[in-house]
Amino acid sequence: MAAACAEMEPPAAPPPSPPPAAAAAAAAAAAGSAELVCAQGRNLKAVLCQRCGSRVLLPGAATFARRELLLPAMRKKAAAAAGGGGDLLREHWLVRDMFSFENVGFTRDVGNVKFLVCADCEAGPIGWHCLDDKDSFYVALERVAHE
Ligand SMILES: [Zn+2]
Repeated sequence: MAAACAEMEPPAAPPPSPPPAAAAAAAAAAAGSAELVCAQGRNLKAVLCQRCGSRVLLPGAATFARRELLLPAMRKKAAAAAGGGGDLLREHWLVRDMFSFENVGFTRDVGNVKFLVCADCEAGPIGWHCLDDKDSFYVALERVAHE
Protein backbone atom coordinates (compact mmCIF):
# COMPACT_ATOMS: atom_id res chain seq x y z
CA MET A 1 0.00 0.00 0.00
CA ALA A 2 2.59 2.55 1.09
CA ALA A 3 4.80 1.95 -1.95
CA ALA A 4 2.31 3.64 -4.26
CA CYS A 5 2.47 6.77 -2.18
CA ALA A 6 6.09 7.51 -3.02
CA GLU A 7 5.31 8.07 -6.70
CA MET A 8 3.01 10.95 -5.91
CA GLU A 9 5.45 13.14 -4.02
CA PRO A 10 5.14 16.76 -5.20
CA PRO A 11 8.16 18.92 -6.11
CA ALA A 12 10.14 20.10 -3.11
CA ALA A 13 9.51 23.79 -3.76
CA PRO A 14 5.93 24.91 -3.26
CA PRO A 15 4.42 26.79 -6.19
CA PRO A 16 4.33 30.59 -5.80
CA SER A 17 0.53 30.62 -5.94
CA PRO A 18 -2.18 27.98 -5.62
CA PRO A 19 -2.76 26.21 -8.93
CA PRO A 20 -6.23 26.60 -10.49
CA ALA A 21 -7.03 23.01 -9.51
CA ALA A 22 -6.64 23.88 -5.84
CA ALA A 23 -9.01 26.83 -6.19
CA ALA A 24 -11.54 24.60 -7.94
CA ALA A 25 -11.21 22.01 -5.20
CA ALA A 26 -11.79 24.71 -2.60
CA ALA A 27 -14.94 25.85 -4.38
CA ALA A 28 -16.17 22.27 -4.65
CA ALA A 29 -15.56 21.70 -0.98
CA ALA A 30 -17.50 24.83 -0.11
CA ALA A 31 -20.39 23.86 -2.38
CA GLY A 32 -20.40 20.20 -1.42
CA SER A 33 -19.84 20.38 2.31
CA ALA A 34 -23.59 20.38 3.02
CA GLU A 35 -23.94 16.77 1.98
CA LEU A 36 -21.06 15.82 4.28
CA VAL A 37 -22.64 17.26 7.42
CA CYS A 38 -25.62 15.80 9.27
CA ALA A 39 -28.30 17.87 10.99
CA GLN A 40 -26.31 17.68 14.23
CA GLY A 41 -23.25 19.11 12.49
CA ARG A 42 -21.35 15.83 12.49
CA ASN A 43 -19.58 14.11 9.63
CA LEU A 44 -21.90 11.82 7.68
CA LYS A 45 -19.07 10.00 5.95
CA ALA A 46 -15.83 8.43 7.02
CA VAL A 47 -12.77 10.64 6.59
CA LEU A 48 -9.95 9.02 4.63
CA CYS A 49 -6.45 9.88 3.50
CA GLN A 50 -6.65 11.20 -0.08
CA ARG A 51 -3.46 9.43 -1.02
CA CYS A 52 -3.64 5.94 0.46
CA GLY A 53 -7.22 5.64 1.74
CA SER A 54 -6.22 5.09 5.35
CA ARG A 55 -9.21 5.71 7.62
CA VAL A 56 -8.76 8.83 9.74
CA LEU A 57 -12.23 9.27 11.28
CA LEU A 58 -15.38 7.17 11.43
CA PRO A 59 -18.73 8.78 10.56
CA GLY A 60 -19.98 10.95 13.42
CA ALA A 61 -16.57 11.28 15.11
CA ALA A 62 -16.18 14.99 14.39
CA THR A 63 -18.18 18.20 14.11
CA PHE A 64 -18.05 20.69 11.27
CA ALA A 65 -16.27 23.92 12.19
CA ARG A 66 -15.33 27.08 10.35
CA ARG A 67 -12.03 28.63 11.29
CA GLU A 68 -9.28 30.22 9.24
CA LEU A 69 -6.17 28.09 9.62
CA LEU A 70 -2.99 28.28 7.57
CA LEU A 71 -1.74 24.84 6.61
CA PRO A 72 1.53 24.30 4.77
CA ALA A 73 1.23 22.95 1.23
CA MET A 74 0.69 19.22 0.98
CA ARG A 75 3.85 17.16 0.81
CA LYS A 76 4.78 13.62 1.63
CA LYS A 77 6.97 14.49 4.58
CA ALA A 78 5.46 17.28 6.63
CA ALA A 79 8.59 17.76 8.73
CA ALA A 80 9.53 20.80 6.66
CA ALA A 81 6.20 22.41 7.48
CA ALA A 82 7.84 25.62 8.63
CA GLY A 83 9.00 26.31 5.06
CA GLY A 84 7.00 28.90 3.12
CA GLY A 85 3.86 28.23 1.12
CA GLY A 86 0.51 27.12 2.34
CA ASP A 87 -3.22 27.37 2.05
CA LEU A 88 -5.67 29.30 4.21
CA LEU A 89 -8.36 26.71 4.93
CA ARG A 90 -11.74 27.53 6.42
CA GLU A 91 -13.74 24.29 6.66
CA HIS A 92 -12.66 21.63 9.11
CA TRP A 93 -13.71 18.61 11.05
CA LEU A 94 -13.24 19.44 14.72
CA VAL A 95 -12.31 16.51 16.93
CA ARG A 96 -12.41 16.99 20.69
CA ASP A 97 -10.67 13.80 21.77
CA MET A 98 -7.51 12.41 20.22
CA PHE A 99 -8.86 8.90 20.81
CA SER A 100 -11.72 9.63 18.40
CA PHE A 101 -9.25 9.22 15.54
CA GLU A 102 -8.97 5.84 13.86
CA ASN A 103 -5.49 6.67 12.60
CA VAL A 104 -3.56 9.90 12.65
CA GLY A 105 0.01 11.05 12.85
CA PHE A 106 1.57 14.30 14.00
CA THR A 107 4.49 16.38 12.84
CA ARG A 108 7.07 17.69 15.21
CA ASP A 109 6.03 20.89 16.96
CA VAL A 110 6.24 24.03 14.87
CA GLY A 111 6.16 26.65 17.58
CA ASN A 112 3.13 25.62 19.62
CA VAL A 113 1.42 23.93 16.68
CA LYS A 114 1.45 20.34 15.50
CA PHE A 115 0.16 19.37 12.07
CA LEU A 116 -1.84 16.21 11.51
CA VAL A 117 -0.69 13.78 8.84
CA CYS A 118 -1.78 10.37 7.58
CA ALA A 119 -0.57 7.70 9.98
CA ASP A 120 0.17 5.29 7.13
CA CYS A 121 1.77 7.33 4.33
CA GLU A 122 2.46 10.63 6.13
CA ALA A 123 0.57 12.62 3.49
CA GLY A 124 -0.25 16.01 4.85
CA PRO A 125 -0.60 18.20 6.59
CA ILE A 126 -4.28 17.28 6.70
CA GLY A 127 -5.00 19.09 9.93
CA TRP A 128 -3.93 21.40 12.70
CA HIS A 129 -3.57 21.19 16.46
CA CYS A 130 -2.45 23.91 18.87
CA LEU A 131 -0.73 22.82 22.06
CA ASP A 132 -2.53 25.66 23.87
CA ASP A 133 -5.87 23.91 23.28
CA LYS A 134 -5.35 20.22 23.86
CA ASP A 135 -8.97 19.32 23.16
CA SER A 136 -9.19 20.69 19.63
CA PHE A 137 -7.95 18.86 16.55
CA TYR A 138 -8.86 20.30 13.16
CA VAL A 139 -8.92 18.21 9.97
CA ALA A 140 -9.32 20.29 6.79
CA LEU A 141 -12.17 19.05 4.55
CA GLU A 142 -10.31 19.70 1.34
CA ARG A 143 -7.22 17.82 2.50
CA VAL A 144 -9.06 14.53 3.03
CA ALA A 145 -11.37 12.18 1.15
CA HIS A 146 -14.89 11.24 2.27
CA GLU A 147 -16.53 7.84 1.84
ZN1 LIG B 1 -2.20 8.01 3.66
